Amino acid sequence: MQTSMFNVRVPLDEVGAGSDVFLMNTFTDAQVIVSADVAALLDRLGNASSTFTPEERGALATLAEHGFVVGDREAERNQVEAFFRDVREDTDQLRVTVLTTLQCNFACDYCFQGDHGDYNKFADKMTLETAARVAAWVEERLETIRPESFVLTLFGGEPLLNLPVAYYLAERLWSACTTRGVRMMVNVITNGLLLTPDVVDRLAPFGLNGVKITLDGDAATHDRMRPLRGGQGTFERIIANVRRVADKCRITVGGNFDETSVDSYPALLDFLRQQDFADKLAKVAFKPVIREPRPSQPKGFIPLTAVAGDGRPLNGTCMTSAGGGTTVCGSCNFVDEKMSFLREETKKRGFPTADGVHMGPCEIHRRHAHTIAPDGSLYACPGFTGDKNQSTGHIDGRRDDPRARAASQFEQLAAWKECSDCAFIPVCAGGCSVAAHTELGSMHRPNCHKSSFEAGVVSLARDAAARELATVN
Ligand code: SF4
Ligand code: SF4
Repeated sequence: MQTSMFNVRVPLDEVGAGSDVFLMNTFTDAQVIVSADVAALLDRLGNASSTFTPEERGALATLAEHGFVVGDREAERNQVEAFFRDVREDTDQLRVTVLTTLQCNFACDYCFQGDHGDYNKFADKMTLETAARVAAWVEERLETIRPESFVLTLFGGEPLLNLPVAYYLAERLWSACTTRGVRMMVNVITNGLLLTPDVVDRLAPFGLNGVKITLDGDAATHDRMRPLRGGQGTFERIIANVRRVADKCRITVGGNFDETSVDSYPALLDFLRQQDFADKLAKVAFKPVIREPRPSQPKGFIPLTAVAGDGRPLNGTCMTSAGGGTTVCGSCNFVDEKMSFLREETKKRGFPTADGVHMGPCEIHRRHAHTIAPDGSLYACPGFTGDKNQSTGHIDGRRDDPRARAASQFEQLAAWKECSDCAFIPVCAGGCSVAAHTELGSMHRPNCHKSSFEAGVVSLARDAAARELATVN
């Protein structure tokens, strides 16, 4: 017997909550508060000469039931391998993110996509004819995989700039799912400017599950970061739009911060708390943007989409939403101390938010999760759509050499294997591959934000201690 490599612990005196110890196992997700004696018992397991009383053996057996004690390290490593294989091959759910267009009606000053110059003139937009082929491709996947549920995420650019395609896909795929007894959910990730009750009403019958909007700080900061082409702010209109639809669908608020904007987020949270729709918000969660170590980039922001020599975009998804700063995957909360700070500030104001620990494995590790660009190219996740060399296939079945090579790269993704005996492997999987690709030059290297996971566990410990105290009282 030995302790699991996935145990993490927080002495509660560190969070001012008594002398007990919070234990968590990231593989089984067991969370318990135990006395310091029991925690010490686990430590003694590591000592070959330790002997145990019958009572202690009973306690160890209980800990083993929850995964805190395991047979041997090799068996545990094999279980993790099997876990990642199961995640990869899981057929319960088919997930497809469709970039309806790469056009955008915002002119964010840090972003060369969007409504600058002639960007929108050249940015890809899915045609109805391509949408029909996308739908046929999804129908074939539904037929082959036979999942229990199907998640369609509409994304861009700004997906609501291509409503005909959004409506067409939602309606046709709803019909395809209904016929096959598959539960369908539609998510929309939008900047919020065109989010109207009409849009929500039109998508609601086809399984509209939630709408995610982005606010990059308080009103002044957001308006500086995400203006219209003429410089007009967008904050007020987005808030008005949210107010009009909050009764009709689940709204999630995301935001992408950097060092120039992070300090404005508490004011944004205060503002949101004061709104009449505050209690309707399904989730509020902020994330840092991916950084690329290139001095020529504007401070604090990096493009995931390269621009060709003539200034035209090479396509790709909205840089403020993709990858590690993502709003699309909901997984890449790779965080730092600011992330922990904002999570606590969000919780303090009573908004549901990510807990900082239960993050992954993200969809890049799932075979049956796909991102489809406006031209029908397939990608392993939205964060890679800025680079056509990362396309893994096409809905028309073409598989040229570059695509075959890219597909093989993604097939081999297992950065966590370089993470030795890190306790967070089951919930981190080696971090965001897009961030690793962008920041470290290789998607196969771990993109480690362990300290933020540790901060997340401390936060869980504090919450568990508070719950226990409430029960006792
Ligand atoms: S690799 Fe990064 S951007 Fe892509 S799905 Fe995973 S966490 Fe999200
Ligand atoms: S990237 Fe870091 S936190 Fe994630 S599993 Fe690897 S070592 Fe652990």
